[in-house]
Amino acid sequence: MAPMPQVENKEEQRTKVCASCGRELPLSHFPKHRLSIDGHMRECQDCRRRHNPNKASSVNPLEKFTARELMHELGQRGYKGEITYTEVKVHKMRLSEM
Ligand SMILES: [Zn+2]
Repeated sequence: MAPMPQVENKEEQRTKVCASCGRELPLSHFPKHRLSIDGHMRECQDCRRRHNPNKASSVNPLEKFTARELMHELGQRGYKGEITYTEVKVHKMRLSEM
């Protein structure tokens, strides 16, 4: 039996058990979620896709950004009017999660 290759950087190999299918998978298999404790969704990307086949493709790309990044991004695009609105929306989302 050949020895397993040693993992050099354990920090890169952290795993998480999927709340849906129960498999232990590398963190990279879990979609990122900035509001969750460890920064990743509780479900792996496979379960995520299985449960929300349509939602995944219709996600607003702006939702990936933080408020600060949004301000920068929108400012660059010239959407000065929407900056305040977006900030308030993100702020309210954070509060409701607590
Ligand atoms: Zn899963």
